[in-house]
Amino acid sequence: MAETDIADMARRIAAGERRALARAITLVESARADHRADAAALLEALKAGGRQALRIGLSGTPGVGKSTFIEAFGLMLTGQGLRVAVLAVDPSSARSGGSILGDKTRMEQLSRDANAFIRPSPSQTHLGGVARRTREAVALCEAAGFDAVLIETVGVGQSETVVAEMSDLFVLLLAPAGGDELQGVKRGIMEIADLILVNKADGDLKPAATRTCADYAQALRLLRRRAQDPQGFPKAMLVSALTGDGLSEAWAEMTALHEWRCEHGHAQSRRAAQARHWFEEEVRQGLLARLTASAETRDTMRRLGAAVAAGEATPERAAQEMLAKLKS
Ligand code: GDP
Repeated sequence: MAETDIADMARRIAAGERRALARAITLVESARADHRADAAALLEALKAGGRQALRIGLSGTPGVGKSTFIEAFGLMLTGQGLRVAVLAVDPSSARSGGSILGDKTRMEQLSRDANAFIRPSPSQTHLGGVARRTREAVALCEAAGFDAVLIETVGVGQSETVVAEMSDLFVLLLAPAGGDELQGVKRGIMEIADLILVNKADGDLKPAATRTCADYAQALRLLRRRAQDPQGFPKAMLVSALTGDGLSEAWAEMTALHEWRCEHGHAQSRRAAQARHWFEEEVRQGLLARLTASAETRDTMRRLGAAVAAGEATPERAAQEMLAKLKS
């Protein structure tokens, strides 16, 4: 793209033009080298605007009510005059090309809302690729003036960590448990959650939801409180995406936590650490891409791999030889 085209695209995005935003996201999703260069130039051009959205990571296993929640929560926010973007990191799309979160019929009302923007997960061959694209899409939505960016993921594998690395706040959505055990939620996820929302706290499910919420509140108290959190966080709360109960309270907690972190400099240092992380990740990905970029490096990789397998070279020596080839 010519420099003037990039400047024009940046201007349109900053003016909040949805079509320009959608096109820019398509650009950052592309793996083509010239597109990557354009995307980098565009992100650079938009950075000067300095706009910031509240980035909220949201995770939950299929069926807990993520789409119902995002629809109701998103509509509540747009009802308050806020602009809301919804993005997804879907590891299933990385594996199979099919997506759990990409279905366009989800969040039907919100997707028609002029103050909302919904983008399904890009399908990529690996989670790292999906993550990078989504992070760049977050930056684009931010530059387009959205007040809140929700980044949704299903609770499997590494995707929560990836989403937490691009969020200011991380929210875990759970459903009421049948028994009285914690629902096999991995400790690592508990540790990154700022807010646990037990959904479906309505009708017959309310007593179970209340029990589940108490169990998680207890479990959270056992985790060490983080220095960058005010008293009472992380917190477990009841919500119903269906009736809307608890949604405004959940939003109040999110904004209170974020404001507290901003006042104490924690939100800024979290973003700074994230920027560093993504820089290092980008370098790592770039080096990996070089490994497979040419037939020659692919051949060398194969040859050295075979030599190591045959016991003709040590892994260390072969790795050194390979890395020396990547230096130029
Ligand atoms: P997702 O797979 O996490 O996106 O979950 P969905 O939003 O598709 O919801 C899964 C099922 O749970 C659907 O049948 C919803 O109607 C139902 N559901 C979602 N939220 C609530 C809620 O707050 N209360 C009740 N009772 N059902 C809900």
